[in-house]
Amino acid sequence: MLPDRPMLRLDAVSKTYGAALRFPALWGGHGRTSSPAVDNVSFDLPRGETFGLVGESGSGKSTLARIVTGLAAPSQGAVWFDGVNLTRLRTRAQWLPMRRRIQMIFQDPGSSLDPRWKVRDIIAEPIRTHSLRTSGAMTERRVHEVLSLVGLSHRDGLRYPHEFSGGQRQRISIARALAAEAEFIVCDEPTSALDVSIQAQILNILVDLQREFGLTYLFISHNLPVIGFVSHRIGVMYAGRLVECGVAQDVLENPAHPYTRALLETALRPDADAPHARVEEGAPPGWTDGCAFRSRCAVAMPECAQTAPGATNF
Ligand code: ADP
Ligand code: MG
Repeated sequence: MLPDRPMLRLDAVSKTYGAALRFPALWGGHGRTSSPAVDNVSFDLPRGETFGLVGESGSGKSTLARIVTGLAAPSQGAVWFDGVNLTRLRTRAQWLPMRRRIQMIFQDPGSSLDPRWKVRDIIAEPIRTHSLRTSGAMTERRVHEVLSLVGLSHRDGLRYPHEFSGGQRQRISIARALAAEAEFIVCDEPTSALDVSIQAQILNILVDLQREFGLTYLFISHNLPVIGFVSHRIGVMYAGRLVECGVAQDVLENPAHPYTRALLETALRPDADAPHARVEEGAPPGWTDGCAFRSRCAVAMPECAQTAPGATNF
C-alpha cells in the first residue's frame, strides 16, 4: 500500500436527481430535469483525519454522504476508497467488504436502529454478517467491549432502542460502527438533534475513538463551531459546490470565500443553532459558470460570473 494513498478521494463527483428526460434535446440536451444536488466536488481525505463538510440545508451534504457510502450512485465522477473505485463495484460480493469498512451515523438514530431488536443484537449484527468472531461467546464479549467503549453498560445491551435518550441512541450507532471494525465513518449531522451538553459528549467520544483506533471521518454539519471542533480539514458547500476547502484552522481564521465568512458571522450570533437560522433566505441559483453564491453575495464582483474566489485554501 502506498503510504500517501488517501482513505477517500472524490474526483469531480456530481449528482442530479430526477428522471432522465425522454427527449433531452428539447431541454437543452443535458437530459435531466433539475440542477445538480452535488456539482463537481473533489477532495482527498487522508487516513486518520476528519473532513468536516459544512453548509446550509439543501446544499447537497447528505447527497454526498449517500454517494460516499454507496447508498446513491453519482451521475458523474468517481469515489475512491483506499484505492478502490467504488463507482466501479457492481456485485454484492464486491460491496460486502466495503459495507463493513465504511459505516454511517445519521442524525436520527431512531430510524436507523431496528426497534424490534435488543441493542446487543443490533450491535452483534455486523459481527455476524461479516464473520468477525468465530463463536457466540466471542461475539458476546465483543458486544460488551464496544458498549463499554461508548460508555454503555453490559445491561444496556438487553434493552430496546426506544428505551434510550437521543444521545444514548447515538452511542449505540457508534458502537455498531465499531463492532463492524469500520475504518471510515460518515457522520451526517450526528449531533444536530441533541442538546448542547449531550452534543459535546458525543463529539468527545468520536474524537477519542479516532485517536484510539485511527478512524477516518467525513463529518457533516450545518453548524460551523461543531465542524471546527472535530475537523482537520473543512469543506464549505453551497448549492452543491465546494466553494472553499482547506486546513481547518486556515478556513476558520482566514476564510477565502464570502459565503464562509457569512457562515462564521452567523455562527457568532446567539441564536445561531436555532432551526430557522440561515445565512440568508433565497434559493441558490443553478448557474453553471462562476460562483453559485454571487446572487446573495454582498461583495460580488463582475469576475464572479466566471470564477469563484478561493475555492481551495490548501
Ligand atoms: P443537505 O443534506 O445539505 O441538506 P441534501 O443532499 O439533502 O442537502 O439535498 C440537496 C438537494 O437535493 C436539495 O435541493 C434536495 O431537495 C435535493 N434532494 C435530496 N434528496 C433528493 C431525492 N431523493 N430526490 C430528489 N431530490 C433530492
Ligand atoms: Mg442533510
